Amino acid sequence: MKKEFTEFDVFRTIAETLSGRKSIAALSNYQVLNNNINYVNNLFSESLSRFSKVLNEARASLADDSLASPEAKNDSCRLYYFRKILPRLITNGIQISMKFQSHTIPDDRSTVAIEDVHVLHKSFADYSELVTSTRQFVDSLLSDSYQMICLDPKLLNYQVLSSLSSFEKYATASIWRSIANDDLAKILKQFNSLKFQNRANSKISKCTHKTFAQKVDYVFSQLGVNDNKFSDELKNVFNFSSEFTHVGYVSTMFSSTYNSECIFGDEIGPYLPSTENFCELEYRLLETGVKLYSKIYISSLRHALEQLMGDFSQGINKKLIQLADDINNGLKTRNTQYYFFIRSDIVGSSKNINIPCRCGEVRIWIPPHDRSELFCKKCGSSFTLIELAGDPGYIFTSQGPVKAIGSSVPDLEDLPKEKFDEVWKKWKEAVDKNSVQHL
Ligand SMILES: [Zn+2]
Repeated sequence: MKKEFTEFDVFRTIAETLSGRKSIAALSNYQVLNNNINYVNNLFSESLSRFSKVLNEARASLADDSLASPEAKNDSCRLYYFRKILPRLITNGIQISMKFQSHTIPDDRSTVAIEDVHVLHKSFADYSELVTSTRQFVDSLLSDSYQMICLDPKLLNYQVLSSLSSFEKYATASIWRSIANDDLAKILKQFNSLKFQNRANSKISKCTHKTFAQKVDYVFSQLGVNDNKFSDELKNVFNFSSEFTHVGYVSTMFSSTYNSECIFGDEIGPYLPSTENFCELEYRLLETGVKLYSKIYISSLRHALEQLMGDFSQGINKKLIQLADDINNGLKTRNTQYYFFIRSDIVGSSKNINIPCRCGEVRIWIPPHDRSELFCKKCGSSFTLIELAGDPGYIFTSQGPVKAIGSSVPDLEDLPKEKFDEVWKKWKEAVDKNSVQHL
């Protein structure tokens, strides 16, 4: 029979479990996580510089009446003022992105020795900063994407006036004067005089999609992004970060307990299990955030520019497409799966086997060839071996000829030109006959 818990059972279990935190389990490879954080963080940082340059170009074009679409041509047109506010929104977005980028950098272990390994410990403050900056980034980029998709003055009014209304309540007079003028103050008074539920549908403001999740679904549908896994991931990150941002019980207890930890080590130096756990979360948040930026935010901006400038948006949008493609392709090189042909008799032999990963790193697989080591320490990709009997030589794949690892033939790049051309010709014939290996 299923056990019915009483209120006392529940209370006892909570008290016992959460007061004595279990020892922390290190679940992933710290070195790989840190390398991947480094790679994606650099990718993100470089793309933000490129994005800023594109924004400058967009700002100049948006200011030019002769480039505007008929709906945004002059101040009697519905979309006209979006030409002014859009560059401001994007400038804010870049600031928030830079903050997120600066909170998702890899650990520097180059000077950490066993005696000071505690500097790698991650505290409540570290978790709080990481997750809060993620929350600001995700929330703000998604809200701006929503505004750029809708381009509806009433929706923008609602968002800005709601924000001003909260801000005004506690802002000092000098700060308030630096952002508001008399007209804006009067408008805000009118907005504040509306009953709370009427603000979402008034003469000056409206709010059609109230929650974060509703906005995600709407933006995804308008952009034609059919990726439920990713939309769920964004909603989950939002809920997860609420728990941290509002200092929920679980997140605070998780991150504020300091038990003495065992010390791990690898070829770079010592580290703590808790550092590795932090890194795992950091990588996950970074990857989700950068995907939001490349797949949703940049696409939404392209949509807005097209509405505001028609065909004149094409030049800038081409650059934005290239930027997003470069980020997406960069992300794909992490934690991927690569296949290698290998002669079967060297696996389990006494020889070292060199496995060249596509990222440039070479894994030296030493005897006894433990299969749990078949991954790349630099990019986290896993290796699947296709073992072939005898001395297989070059194998023709749909992507080109490759040398089976351990074969007696020279490496392709070491072949004299005429020999290389010969292999290439045979490979082409195999492609025409469609007799290549598809991986
Ligand atoms: Zn690699």
